[in-house]
Amino acid sequence: MNIILLGPPGAGKGTQAKILEGIYNIPQISTGDMLRAAVKNGTELGRQAKSFMDAGQLVPDSLVIALAEERMSAPDAAGGFMLDGFPRTQAQALALDDMLDRLGKKIDVVLNFEVPRPALIERMSGRRTCQQCGVGYHVKFAPSREADKCDKCRGELYQREDDKETTVAKRLQVYDESTKPLIDYYARKELHQVINGDESPDKVTAQIRKIVDAA
Ligand code: AMP
Repeated sequence: MNIILLGPPGAGKGTQAKILEGIYNIPQISTGDMLRAAVKNGTELGRQAKSFMDAGQLVPDSLVIALAEERMSAPDAAGGFMLDGFPRTQAQALALDDMLDRLGKKIDVVLNFEVPRPALIERMSGRRTCQQCGVGYHVKFAPSREADKCDKCRGELYQREDDKETTVAKRLQVYDESTKPLIDYYARKELHQVINGDESPDKVTAQIRKIVDAA
């Protein structure tokens, strides 16, 4: 099963991908996570991507397309995958179609997460991550027991640079301009399904399971 998780930043794609990995036994392929790892490890890709990411802008297509293709060709993606945060532009969607042709694969379903804008802003600006072990928290919806300390490893919690308020506004604008048009692209291919992302994680998972199990 090859799935695209489409939707604005903060819609819960990453949260659901992690839950679904356990249910369907297919990996989450998150270009955002891969780019953050590249930045953290100080690679050439990370060096090229960092300024775009910190400003809430998209990393150039050529860099992201190569990254996604390499990851989709890995052995653990042979039985299926969930693309989270890719494609994000028309050029990436076309490149993905080419890639899939070459790899002899196809997309089975595109899940489009819909969440009202104020909820997206609240979700993103409250997100915190442990510097040490990477576990995620939210100051309102999933707070750590002690402020700014990880419950699991006592590491410091930090806020992603691009989750700060002005950058969040920029990311939503970039989504509207560059990524939202992909909804029509996949609707024309009859792959597009709407998920109401403005519900509890359990309820969102239940909606997804219904659609994926029927696909
Ligand atoms: P995310 O974690 O998916 O919200 O991604 C964080 C940031 O990484 C984005 O704001 C972009 O700067 C960059 N990024 C992630 N995926 C892509 C993509 N498919 N195309 C371009 N930039 C991306």
